[in-house]
Amino acid sequence: MPLIDSHSHIHDADFPFPKEEVFRQALAENVKKIVCIGVSEDDSETAVKFAENNSSDEVELLVCVGVHPHEAKDFSGDSVRLKKIARHKTVIGIGEIGLDYHYNNSSQDDQIAALRAQIQLAAKLGLPIAFHVRDAYEDFWRVFDEENRNSTIRGVLHSFTDSIENLEKALARNLYIGINGISTFAKKPHEIEMFEAIPLNRILLETDAPFLAPAGKRGKPNQPAWTSMIAQDLANKRGISVEKVAEITNHNFEDLFNLY
Ligand SMILES: [Zn+2]
Repeated sequence: MPLIDSHSHIHDADFPFPKEEVFRQALAENVKKIVCIGVSEDDSETAVKFAENNSSDEVELLVCVGVHPHEAKDFSGDSVRLKKIARHKTVIGIGEIGLDYHYNNSSQDDQIAALRAQIQLAAKLGLPIAFHVRDAYEDFWRVFDEENRNSTIRGVLHSFTDSIENLEKALARNLYIGINGISTFAKKPHEIEMFEAIPLNRILLETDAPFLAPAGKRGKPNQPAWTSMIAQDLANKRGISVEKVAEITNHNFEDLFNLY
């Protein structure tokens, strides 16, 4: 069964591998769906164009459009442009959006405003959300719950590495959990324990390429093909086959993004 990379940045002009190489390697590892994730309005437009020009029967490209918390200071705020970009047929979700108080590249007020506006846009369009949250869960859950009064938000916490407490809060809100290379090289007992606690039926596989290359490729730029290494690592740790990991995580992906 083919694998899906649910979070990548291969459309970026600075992506370190030529796209032909990216697709050839992905196919060789049986990765047949790749989601390109936008981080700004411009980048989301780039992702849509990239997907439209490069999607094929062999490797399907899909897109999430959104303004990353790092870029929140430059968000036009009214969502009009993003809404237009989101109408393209390759677009399956809004993201990556959220709060990042680790870097604070945008003010916390700007981040919260951008997050709220984009959650509301996702609700209007009926789209699921790819969230990026780092060192900001207290504010994140407050905003999330305020915006989720009708329990309509569906989403994934991409690159989740936080505490068991926040994992439980995410699961209680029916969110999916995106795991990547970090899960393959986590060494601290509390990190290992947290990854073990994620139910298989809530996991999406992702690379976040070109970032976060898995164990065995660390220090190199990451690529969608290595979704297979994350899947293999998960299979080993859960004592199941890669085939089973693919089956379950593909089902999760299709459920979240309405791709049945
Ligand atoms: Zn990302």
